[in-house]
Amino acid sequence: MNDNIILQLPKFKIALDPTKEPQGNIIFISHSHADHMLRKKTPIPKLCSLETEKLVSARRNHSLINTINEELSINNLNLRMVDTGHVLGSRALVIENDKKIVFTSDFTLREREFLGKFIPEKCDYAILEATFGKEKYIFPPSEEIVKDAKDWIEEQFKKGCPVVLMGYTLGKAQLLCKIFEDFAPIYLDKNIKKINDIYRECGVPLLDFERFGQNKQLKIPPWILITSPQSGRAKLMRKVNAKTAFFSGWAIDEESYVHRMKVDRVFPLSDHADFNELVETVETCNPEKVFVSHGYDHEFAAHLRKLGFDAEPLSFRESPLIDFSEI
Ligand SMILES: [Zn+2]
Repeated sequence: MNDNIILQLPKFKIALDPTKEPQGNIIFISHSHADHMLRKKTPIPKLCSLETEKLVSARRNHSLINTINEELSINNLNLRMVDTGHVLGSRALVIENDKKIVFTSDFTLREREFLGKFIPEKCDYAILEATFGKEKYIFPPSEEIVKDAKDWIEEQFKKGCPVVLMGYTLGKAQLLCKIFEDFAPIYLDKNIKKINDIYRECGVPLLDFERFGQNKQLKIPPWILITSPQSGRAKLMRKVNAKTAFFSGWAIDEESYVHRMKVDRVFPLSDHADFNELVETVETCNPEKVFVSHGYDHEFAAHLRKLGFDAEPLSFRESPLIDFSEI
């Protein structure tokens, strides 16, 4: 699969979410997840939101240089960024003159807690991610998932049992902090605490939970620890009989995911569009042509073709370049 997508526009190239090689005349960084952010330093101008700039700089431990955080015009093309609701600062890119191109990486149409949502707009060309582009990935309403999770935590608290909630360090963990803020005490893994501090700096109203110090807290359950699946805490937690839960859209495959993640429960709380949202997005954009990237791009493009759209998966292309030099 291609590392990134490059758009050849009249007289310049824009690289969309490159991670390895800096390319193009401009780089667009949609958000601060590792699979979308450039690991190398480069003087090439970078278009991203201010929040993404702060988060990428903190995660890479060096400041992003030469960034542009606002709308700009190049060669009669207007480039603007719109919210995608995925994580703090996540943006889609809209490029337009007489024609309009919309590029979204990870996005959702659902508004959640302190996050906005992606509002699809009519365009001529759409390039969109299809992480959950398969019919079985339809998420229950968020309120239902949250209620289930809160009931489950309450059950554990009544038994005096500590609870470990797992989600990705950036994005999911901050939502978990907000959703479950009425439970006490809540402790955080240090990497999550670092990201929470940036979210707060950007105006997100997250409570300042204490960092988890294992010796002190292991003695006085119940408590909640919010951590990431990569932190290795889950293993330690089983020793103190903590109950563990993981939050991800992949939890739609519930049984296999409980087994794979070695947790007690999984909840399908996702930061992505589900299958229905993906279809709704394409129907609203109603483009002449759709390029589908990531995830089930092949399956989703085939579904779109059945609906009458001209859709092409990008992972089967030899070159990551899409030629819009004539628009
Ligand atoms: Zn992401």
